[in-house]
Amino acid sequence: MYLVSPKRVFKGNKAWEKALPEISKLTKSPLLIGRSNATYSLRKKITEDLDFYNSKVINETLLFDCCEEDLDRIYNKCTSYHCDAIIAAGGGKVLDAGKILAYKLSIPCITVPLSASTCAGWTALGNIYSKHGQFIKDINLRSCPDIFVFDYSFIKTAPTKTLTSGIADSLAKWYESSITSSSNKDGLVQQAIQISRVLRDQLFLESEEALADPAEGNLAWRNVIEGNSLTAGLIGGIGGEKCRTAAAHAIHNAITQLQPKNKPLHGEIVGVGILIQLKLEEVKNDNKLADQTMKQLAKFMKKLDLPTTVAELGIDLVENNNLQRIADFTCRKESEIHFLPFSVSPDDVVKTISIFENQKIII
Ligand SMILES: [Zn+2]
Repeated sequence: MYLVSPKRVFKGNKAWEKALPEISKLTKSPLLIGRSNATYSLRKKITEDLDFYNSKVINETLLFDCCEEDLDRIYNKCTSYHCDAIIAAGGGKVLDAGKILAYKLSIPCITVPLSASTCAGWTALGNIYSKHGQFIKDINLRSCPDIFVFDYSFIKTAPTKTLTSGIADSLAKWYESSITSSSNKDGLVQQAIQISRVLRDQLFLESEEALADPAEGNLAWRNVIEGNSLTAGLIGGIGGEKCRTAAAHAIHNAITQLQPKNKPLHGEIVGVGILIQLKLEEVKNDNKLADQTMKQLAKFMKKLDLPTTVAELGIDLVENNNLQRIADFTCRKESEIHFLPFSVSPDDVVKTISIFENQKIII
């Protein structure tokens, strides 16, 4: 099936207030999931507002990343309380958990992102992690969410780090789709790639201005948060699997296996993954332009205070055979790295990351 977008999208100022009557029509007994203490007051507001509209909310909190243990526990709660919809309010892992639960229970899903860190509120995909944050697999869902609510006043409350992380994840759309799919003759795939290029350019031009003043009145901020949360989702929707991921996400998935201590955000790891992917293109494909592109991107990421090396993600490549472990997981049989137009072996990854980590990028 072709899963392009949520059925209904409410975005902008007062998006939540505009969506409320629609949500209350769709559900009278929703389960609201969230996670961090930082979003508690927003989730309380969501609960109280829906109560006013006669939808009685059951609240539940994810204890870990989106993992089977949490999903099983909340699934059982939903069935015992006869919940008729899931509302997921939070970051990417909360949104993924909500979508997967709604899919398993065959009930509607409402996504309410509380940061612009990801396009998970939009897409028909969910990632499963272990309790300790190690990537396990992604799940293709039956549909995009039924209602997607993107309220500027909610997004504004999120920490800056979530926005910069989202920018890196959105940039990956271009770097991954352009290498995996540029020879694909499907018109929609080509159009999706071009949207990802325009998105990249806008993020290059407007991210600093957006970060300087995260407010509804700042057009750059609105463009960046919507780029991360709406456009990035649309690109995957139009372009399909190969427009979503390649080496950058494969490297992300491998790095999560090592459980970095300071728990970097998804996009922070993906950003380093893009740089390594570009290095791989240079080393394996003798692509000199890739080196220039990598340096340009690294400079931009440094300006945004994003990590630009594996070491900055809190991983010591020397201890515990970590470098080899990253290489092996990156190249496992089902990895997206095999979408690249050239073959990549674990030895290639070891060699490339070694060169990459030892070079100095001067701003
Ligand atoms: Zn991603």
